[in-house]
Amino acid sequence: MCWEPPGPMPERELAPYAADPERSRGRRHREPPPRGRSEYQRDRDRIIHSTAFRRLEYKTQVFINHEGDLFRTRLTHSLEVAQIARSVARSLRLDEDLTEAIALAHDLGHTPFGHTGQDALNACMRPYGGFEHNLQSLRVVDVLEQRYAAYDGLNLTFESREGILKHCSPRNARALGDVGERFIKKRRPSLEAQLANLADEIAYNNHDVDDGLRSGLLSLEQLADVRIVSRHMKAVLRAYPKVAGRRLVHETVRRMIGTLVIDLVRASADNIRGYAPASVEAVRLAPPLIAFSPRIREESLELKRFLHDNLYRHYRVVRMSTKARRIVTELFAAFLSDIRLLPPEFQARARVDAPRAIADYIAGMTDRYAMLEHRRLFSIEET
Ligand code: MG
Repeated sequence: MCWEPPGPMPERELAPYAADPERSRGRRHREPPPRGRSEYQRDRDRIIHSTAFRRLEYKTQVFINHEGDLFRTRLTHSLEVAQIARSVARSLRLDEDLTEAIALAHDLGHTPFGHTGQDALNACMRPYGGFEHNLQSLRVVDVLEQRYAAYDGLNLTFESREGILKHCSPRNARALGDVGERFIKKRRPSLEAQLANLADEIAYNNHDVDDGLRSGLLSLEQLADVRIVSRHMKAVLRAYPKVAGRRLVHETVRRMIGTLVIDLVRASADNIRGYAPASVEAVRLAPPLIAFSPRIREESLELKRFLHDNLYRHYRVVRMSTKARRIVTELFAAFLSDIRLLPPEFQARARVDAPRAIADYIAGMTDRYAMLEHRRLFSIEET
């Protein structure tokens, strides 16, 4: 009998509370509908082909890019977020493509040097409206990407843009129009957006444990005080008493991710069943439905606090952060004192709004490009 290719996979039915690409609120600039893919697949594809997405490879998560080849970068972080978000989306019959698009785009507006870079740029921008990486991610997809002849930005659907904008001040919300509305009316975004947000938390908590141990900044002994870690580590050692080193770490971390993902699916499914939203509009009026159970929420917060106190404030991280802050602050001051130091395309924009054009330029830099630009401006030898 000759081999027959399998027929098309049966379409998984979206739940009534899922964001349906056929019923999207649409794009800022009208476009013909996509062929052979959904509106949200098109968003996801546009994000992957963007310049800002490729730059994530050389932007810091916690460790500066040149500190080691095996640490997470914003790119690998974003891929891990997308993987976790898609798994949960499939279990809950949400739209996987929208969840993935939001996960892949959520950090596009991040500055070089992680949170230090963001804080430093925000301090520089304080007199000029501030800088917020979340808002900047939206600015990247709405304005800064230059890929299409007919418009600026990627022209994503309302639902992707809504998901990218996780939080926002009332003042900014008023200026943003449609995607800002929910912050004024105190509404929730789609479940796909709520999910991408929690997948982000699962990803960074777990990979920061892994990277923290890999770098030697954290020890297994320290982590034994953190409930979610010790519980899983003990279970690994019960099953494999001789396992140690990297294998023990990886076995522990993968089980932690598993626990968090399964708990998120269960607790969210319970919430959804209880509230029974009949549509995305009902989701927007409901309380947050994608959530951990209270116990896992508490354990996840404990891990978060541990990482905050022991990894992000480790003296070696603080030393690097201090250098990063100096680089961002000095670059900003130099460009603001003389916009002729900017590359020509940013000079043109700086003549309209210098601080914002400078913030866009700096935010778009990778870690190593920011260091190079700093040497070019402040070292006599470099040109
Ligand atoms: Mg993130």
